Amino acid sequence: MGTSILHIDLTALADNWRALDRRSGTGTETAAVVKANAYGLGLGKAARALQKAGANSFFVATAEEGVELRQAVGPSPWIGVLGGHMAGDTDMMADMALVPMLNSLDQITRHFEALPGAGFGIQLDSGMNRLGLEPSEWDAVRDLVMKAKPDLLMSHLACADEPDHPMNEQQRTAFCAMTDGLPVRRSLAATGGVLLGPAYHFDVVRAGIGMYGGLPFEEARPVVRVECPVIQARDVAAGETVGYGNTWTAEAPARIATVSAGYGDGITRHISGKAMMFDGTTPCPLVGRVSMDLITVDITHLDHVPRSLDLLCAHQTVDDLAQIAGTIGYEILTSLGRRYQRRYLG
Ligand SMILES: *Cc1c(COP(=O)(O)O)cnc(C)c1O
Repeated sequence: MGTSILHIDLTALADNWRALDRRSGTGTETAAVVKANAYGLGLGKAARALQKAGANSFFVATAEEGVELRQAVGPSPWIGVLGGHMAGDTDMMADMALVPMLNSLDQITRHFEALPGAGFGIQLDSGMNRLGLEPSEWDAVRDLVMKAKPDLLMSHLACADEPDHPMNEQQRTAFCAMTDGLPVRRSLAATGGVLLGPAYHFDVVRAGIGMYGGLPFEEARPVVRVECPVIQARDVAAGETVGYGNTWTAEAPARIATVSAGYGDGITRHISGKAMMFDGTTPCPLVGRVSMDLITVDITHLDHVPRSLDLLCAHQTVDDLAQIAGTIGYEILTSLGRRYQRRYLG
């Protein structure tokens, strides 16, 4: 058994969706964002668990992801594609009833010409300057677009994980100025926006990271555990070094466990010498460099050689590891690659 195991708690995932759904209040729909293979956890299993919990609307990033999602959830859920309608997407959009969030005048033209009468949404830029129509572009096409009856008008917040950031209110004001009074559903909030309160909820919220157990949703239940098998344990004498570049030297006789996982599994080298792995609740420090397939861990203080050690667990969460690596929980999760055996609970 050489591969690491990614344990995914589908009950916790569903509970986190329900908790965000309660936060967003009655009258607001909580759509589930399952782009990037459901943030690395496995699109089909995650989406079906969310569907069972009550999610009826989903977002993916690309049409290809939409096709895979449609095959998993069947014909009834609404599926929005955040990247909009790209050249080459038309057949997938039509065959799988995907709803592109059109981001530019070019995309609007493409969609109206290729699939007249098919569902669509519009993404507006309220200040993030990443995707969506500028206010002046929206002014120019608003009447024409509204005649075609969009499913949704949406925008995205740049600083929602910082509740006191003035950008939040600024973007909300800009979004309202572009959409107030129009007879169409509106969406501004992702996880961070849900937590900003009712003024940010509009008709649909788009929950992602909070469902998967990540900040800024502090109440989230952890969804993932990464368990790495120990391949061998060895004793090293004082003065001996471990791993590439001799970056760690034993100061006293030590016992080192070598576990099967590495940067080839999306475990960044930046945690070398900084993170812990856990034998149950007991922390064991990483020593030496994380290599492609192997990590070395100091287990001198254990009275046994564990069969496996946990890299992500209740004692070292996705966000703990992100902080050690100088990144965010989103990147830790989506980096967990194809090599894991994914085991689903619940
Ligand atoms: C990824 C994404 C989301 C989900 O964001 P979280 O912060 O993970 O909740 C929502 N909306 C858009 C446009 C996104 O790109």
